Amino acid sequence: MRLQGKTALITAAGQGIGRASALAMAAEGAQVWATDVNEKLLETYAGVPNIHVTKLDVLDKTAIQKLINSMPALDILFNCAGFVHNGTILQATDEDWNFAFNLNVRAQFWMIQAALPKMLANGGGSIINMASVCGSLKGLPNRFAYGASKAAVVGLTKSVAADFVGQGIRCNAIAPGTVDTPSLGDRINSYADPVEARKNFVARQPMGRMAQAHEIAPIVVYLASNESVFATGQLFSVDGGMTI
Ligand code: NAD
Repeated sequence: MRLQGKTALITAAGQGIGRASALAMAAEGAQVWATDVNEKLLETYAGVPNIHVTKLDVLDKTAIQKLINSMPALDILFNCAGFVHNGTILQATDEDWNFAFNLNVRAQFWMIQAALPKMLANGGGSIINMASVCGSLKGLPNRFAYGASKAAVVGLTKSVAADFVGQGIRCNAIAPGTVDTPSLGDRINSYADPVEARKNFVARQPMGRMAQAHEIAPIVVYLASNESVFATGQLFSVDGGMTI
């Protein structure tokens, strides 16, 4: 039980990588606060041991503070919430840019700012931020606002890591390749030819397939656990060879 005695908070845990990570952390003994803006999705956790579900919209700063204040302890924060905009810079609107930066970056700023005092009072903690191969390691076509915002996550991560490295706080980011999650399925289905679109997503993965969400969760558990005690300020890519 690598996370026995630890308390974790995960955003966007209703589905996809967030959900797989919540289940993996709970299986390792952590008490997991699994949050999402969509309460319906959280109902699927009914009966799962060590999971506490709570609605949280990460765009609501007051709600973030309220939730963190209500938690008995906080050792692990996994900032997973994010949204993908399609399009080049020529198609991007100010609204797209603002939404991408609010959800993908500002929410992490708010979550960490609210969580840090509790972690510091407790002697430390591990923060894991969701970046992506896109933007932080590779420029991908048609992902202008998304790529820019996910690259910013890496700078945010390194800044927090540098400022609190002497106080027991570790802050790392992860960069998954293409993961077959519900939102990716929705995006694929929104193309005129979904079969062709799926083929194109698979084609950018040298392993010839997309990841499943549970194949990303182990890096999250590792970074949450004391096994990664010497790692901070880094970006960990789990991408099926996308960045070889
Ligand atoms: P997903 O996109 O299928 O699910 C996202 C979840 O976020 C949903 O449960 C949704 O309700 C929740 N959410 C949306 N807005 C929210 C808000 N304001 N507050 C709280 N929760 C909110 O899941 P996914 O595809 O696993 O993506 C999770 C993260 O992983 C995102 O940050 C995404 O950018 C990143 N990522 C995904 C992939 C991929 O290929 N799927 C690759 C790299 C990075």
